[in-house]
Amino acid sequence: MNQRYSDEEIRRLLRERRRRNKRKKIIIRCTMLAAAVIIMLACCFFVLSLLFGGDNEDSKNSKESKKNYGIIFLDPGHGGVDSGTDAGGRYEKDDALKLSLAIRDCLEAEGYKVLMSRTEDVDIDREERGRMANEAGADFFISIHRNQASEGDGAEIWIPKENTEDQQILGNTLMEAFVECGFAERSVTPGVYKNPNDDYYENSIPNMPSCLAEVGFTSSTKDNEIFDRIDQNAKIIAESIIKAHKKVYPDRYTE
Ligand SMILES: [Zn+2]
Repeated sequence: MNQRYSDEEIRRLLRERRRRNKRKKIIIRCTMLAAAVIIMLACCFFVLSLLFGGDNEDSKNSKESKKNYGIIFLDPGHGGVDSGTDAGGRYEKDDALKLSLAIRDCLEAEGYKVLMSRTEDVDIDREERGRMANEAGADFFISIHRNQASEGDGAEIWIPKENTEDQQILGNTLMEAFVECGFAERSVTPGVYKNPNDDYYENSIPNMPSCLAEVGFTSSTKDNEIFDRIDQNAKIIAESIIKAHKKVYPDRYTE
C-alpha cells in the first residue's frame, strides 16, 4: 500500500536528502584530502631518506670498512731506564715515543687500529714487544729508533734476515717516506749491524712483516732538524704505512 505524503512532508524529505548528500560529499572530500596529505608526506620522507639516509649509510659503511683494514703495531724503542742513544740530553727513547704517538694519531684518523708497546716513558722488555704484537694479531710491527755515531746521518731500516717480499715492501716503502721527510737514504738491510745472519728481537719475534727503523741520528744536527718536523713527518710516514698495507693486504680493500 502506497504511503501518501503531504506537500510539507515531501519538502522535508527532500531537504533531508540534500543534507545527507552534502554530508556525504564533505566526507568524501575530507577523505581524499587526507589521502593526498599522507601520500605527499610519504613522498617527502622517501626523498629525504634518499638525500640523507643514503649518505649516512655510505659513511657508516665506509667507517665499517675502515675498521676492517687492520692493526698496526708501533713500537717506540727503549723507554724507562733504557734511554737509548743520548746526544747531549736528547734521548732516543723520547724521540721514538714522540714520533710514534704522532704516527698513531695519523693512522687512527684514517681508520686504522693502532697498538703500541708503550705510550709513556716506561721499561718494556724487547722480546715482550714482539709478543704483544703477535697476541694482538697485528698486520705490521714497526719499531721506531734513532741512531748515534761520531759522524753520519740519514735513515736506515733493518728487516729480518730471512725476509719475505712483504717485509721488503714494508721496509722499502718506509724508506721512501723517510727520504720524502728529508733524511738521507742509508739502507734497508736484512739482519743486524755487521751480521746478516742474526736478527734484532724486534724482527725475530713478530710473526708478521716487521722492521726496525733508525729515523736519523740524534748526533746529527741536520737529522734532528728534520726529525723535529714531527707532524709533517708523521703524516708522510703514516701514508707510507698505509701504502705498504694496501700492497701486502689488498683483499682488505676490496668491496
Ligand atoms: Zn734504539
